[in-house]
Amino acid sequence: MPQYHDGILGPEPRDPGQQFWDPEAQTMSRDQIHQVQSDRLRDMVGRILETPVPLFQRKLAEAGIQSVDDIKSVDDINKIPLTVKQDLRDSEAGAPPFGEYRFTPRESWVRLCTSTGTTGTPTIAVWTRKDIWLEYESACRNWWRNGWRPGQIVTHAHPAYQYGGGVMLSGCLEYFGMLNIWVEPPETDEIAVKGINMWARVRPDVSMVAFSLGRFMEVAAKDGVELNLPAFSLGGGGGRGLPLMTAGLECYAYVGGPCTESPGAHVHEDWAIVQAVDPKTGQDVPDGEWGNLVVTTLDRDNGLLRYDLEEACMMVREPCPCGETTIRSFWGGRFRDFLNSQGKYFMVSEVEGALRKVDAVTQPTLEYVVVKPTSETAPLKVRVELLEGPSSGGAEDARQRCAASIKELVGVEADVEILERETLERSGYKAVRLVDA
Ligand SMILES: [Zn+2]
Repeated sequence: MPQYHDGILGPEPRDPGQQFWDPEAQTMSRDQIHQVQSDRLRDMVGRILETPVPLFQRKLAEAGIQSVDDIKSVDDINKIPLTVKQDLRDSEAGAPPFGEYRFTPRESWVRLCTSTGTTGTPTIAVWTRKDIWLEYESACRNWWRNGWRPGQIVTHAHPAYQYGGGVMLSGCLEYFGMLNIWVEPPETDEIAVKGINMWARVRPDVSMVAFSLGRFMEVAAKDGVELNLPAFSLGGGGGRGLPLMTAGLECYAYVGGPCTESPGAHVHEDWAIVQAVDPKTGQDVPDGEWGNLVVTTLDRDNGLLRYDLEEACMMVREPCPCGETTIRSFWGGRFRDFLNSQGKYFMVSEVEGALRKVDAVTQPTLEYVVVKPTSETAPLKVRVELLEGPSSGGAEDARQRCAASIKELVGVEADVEILERETLERSGYKAVRLVDA
């Protein structure tokens, strides 16, 4: 029998005062990063050709890449065509159930999940132990940067089962050494109360309930109780968009995270090549401009090559005073969430930002939907709940304020409808904010 020791189910302990979780990986010189990325990309191309991995082998063949020597370094990456979600979906449909894009045999996998399937058939993601470990180590870099440390208590309400987000997050937290209070996503008021009661007994040091927070706040307000939760805050603000926190569970869940000194998220470049790409040319857009988020995962058992997530991303390369040598990245949302109305191109989150300026509709939580525009010229239809309801004295004032705020901040005319409280569908995780007409 092996003896139990620190490091058998988690990392070796380290000095809580040290600045980086993995100083060696996070402070490499730019030359070293270039070398590591080049070696690992060439290794991946070699495995695609030799294993073979048919989907990516065909992509390489399209570009005339027949040998690993056709890729001299990471500088040649843009020779390789992009792969999108639909390619993975088609591959799984053509060679069910797993498609032709896996690098290792089925027997080497220990975890499987599907994407949430918000658009089309969900695809299947798989992990070997090494691939899970790589995510755990990546998450640890993020949390250490946030100032979180082993021994703290953290809570979250990520969904589970076939959707693998909750188990991945919980695994990372335990690996890092935090006490993990995983409460159920608040699909109903009764379920929400269970989480609220848990936090009343054990107060977390860190809250990661982010997407579910509104539901917990709403139920707590109804019951007249306080949420015993710390506020959630992240560094990396100050620029445009959000720091790039994830490239999705199926690609690279913990691709990077913000430090406290500069906008954007530090990208784990030893384990991924992250690019902002013009999909028409396959070339990088200039730094500081939005392109498609394209990720090549490195050093995994099962990787994705030049995977275009069809989301907006922007890169910055100026050195960061925090001392981490990696490039930084911003996330600008999924392209399918962008709206086109009255000559403006914007995101649902921008409409949300405008509504949040109107106090009357944020009590106890903001509940709204935007109707997907079907006409370029018609006012944007927005439905928003008001605590006192549409027939109350304040309804017309709230309606006008919402429309004025949307006009001011998003730049479009809006037709705002005031709804009774609890008219819109609730969700325990990410609420649906964009609906069809
Ligand atoms: Zn930094």
